[in-house]
Amino acid sequence: MYDVIIIGAGISGTTLARELSRYKLSVAVLEKEYDIATEATMANSAIVHSGHDPLPGTLKATFNIKGSRMYPKMSEELDIPYMPCGGMVVATSKEEEKTINELYQRGLTNRLSEDEIAILTREEILKMEPNISDHVISALHVPTTAVTFPWEAAIANMENAMDNGVELFLETKVTGITKDTHFTLETTQGEFHTRVVVNATGVYADQVQNMFVPADFEINVRRGEYYVLDRDVYEINSVIYPVPTDKGKGVIITPQYHGNVLLGPTSEEVPIKDMSKTTPSGLEYIKAHAKNSVKNIPYDKVIRSFAGGRASSSTHDFVIDDVKDSGFINIAGIESPGLTAAPAIAEHVTNNLISKHVTLTSNPDFNPYRKKVPRLDEMSQEERNELVAKDKRFGRIICRCETVTEGEIVDAINRNCGARSIVGVKNRVRAGAGRCQGGFCQTEVIRILAEQLDIDYTDVNYRKTGSHILKSRTKGD
Ligand SMILES: Cc1cc2nc3c(=O)[nH]c(=O)nc-3n(C[C@H](O)[C@H](O)[C@H](O)COP(=O)(O)OP(=O)(O)OC[C@H]3O[C@@H](n4cnc5c(N)ncnc54)[C@H](O)[C@@H]3O)c2cc1C
Repeated sequence: MYDVIIIGAGISGTTLARELSRYKLSVAVLEKEYDIATEATMANSAIVHSGHDPLPGTLKATFNIKGSRMYPKMSEELDIPYMPCGGMVVATSKEEEKTINELYQRGLTNRLSEDEIAILTREEILKMEPNISDHVISALHVPTTAVTFPWEAAIANMENAMDNGVELFLETKVTGITKDTHFTLETTQGEFHTRVVVNATGVYADQVQNMFVPADFEINVRRGEYYVLDRDVYEINSVIYPVPTDKGKGVIITPQYHGNVLLGPTSEEVPIKDMSKTTPSGLEYIKAHAKNSVKNIPYDKVIRSFAGGRASSSTHDFVIDDVKDSGFINIAGIESPGLTAAPAIAEHVTNNLISKHVTLTSNPDFNPYRKKVPRLDEMSQEERNELVAKDKRFGRIICRCETVTEGEIVDAINRNCGARSIVGVKNRVRAGAGRCQGGFCQTEVIRILAEQLDIDYTDVNYRKTGSHILKSRTKGD
């Protein structure tokens, strides 16, 4: 019997798992996929929003600001990439200038301080952003905006939670929920028993609550499509937002921690099965709208496109509640700014909802720090030499585009919540994330996975069970 079972290992489930590991509780995370963070947490803009945008009084507004203020400490403790770059909402007409003035007031109402929000003139913008569009006349500046690396944020939280005693069950899909004295969860891997259940299942959250009692909210999926530019090919220093509309924040130009730039997202309601598909019309929409904010976009340097599904609630806000005080707790409808808000939601759910059902006694062995990740491209030559002297595999480059060594891949496989597939390696250390998209390094990644997991080359999965790249041997050993 567990004290708490969290269903879903996106950023909501994994930050909660870590938060709960501060206490003497038995906690498990059940995830239906082969790896964690494969849905909304995998496909988003990676922005730690400042909090200027959500409507005052909403859960989104409350947890956005709190979460954004928690990110620097969480990133430092867990060694998560974090780039405080600032953001600006750009106005291209007098009408849009009115909206940025309203957003300025909204930011203050949401509790940004006066030095965390300002209006910039075109001349001030140009000093910071040489590629700003000729149409832009002024901007709302939010310097506390930052960029993280979303799936590493989830992976780091899960790893630290596991280091502190939480259990993770992958490929374990919850299919039924009943309660008598406690909850029984039916899953594809058998039954689990628990005192408290947390539903952090993204676009499936209404369906998962319906397994227990009918949900009084519905989740609609709004797909967002993106282009990715190669690293270091386009100068954008801050997150450039257009003026928001009732469809959302619009096509944003976002510098990424590793030097790429994201263009997107779009916003379109789709069935769940289509949420990860890109479309010609969506990508054309990005081109048509990005040019209002910035110029000189090098579309010949696009290396990839992708799409993700927002879990948009019919209540138009996050759904964070303890259903009928039963111990079935929702972290649902977590669309943007859910990545930003996650650590604050985790703290709130633990202290104010879960605490009503189980006693929170501090875990004296809790260690908030994750073992540092060896990132050779961020090290000095002396530091690299020292590492190579200890282990030659740190001197062998596997991914040339992103300069990733064998030692880094081996490390990513052998941690708690480590990589088990080619995509798992890419998501942890970026081998295959660069301009050749794995064309050069994939065979080497297969070799390393096979060696480290002690399996045959033909048993190495691309993304999930059975997704083998190599089908059979053509020659003897
Ligand atoms: C296009 C787009 C752009 C965004 N940009 C930003 C941004 O820049 N900044 C920001 O703050 N937020 C942003 N967001 C929002 C943010 O990405 C999400 O709020 C956040 O990732 C939601 O995390 P989650 O853990 O709630 O859901 P998810 O990441 O979707 O995780 C849910 C998990 O539950 C699992 N699951 C589902 N059903 C079951 C089941 N029956 N049994 C077991 N497991 C199950 C899934 O496999 C999945 O792993 C964006 C979202 C999108 C889609």
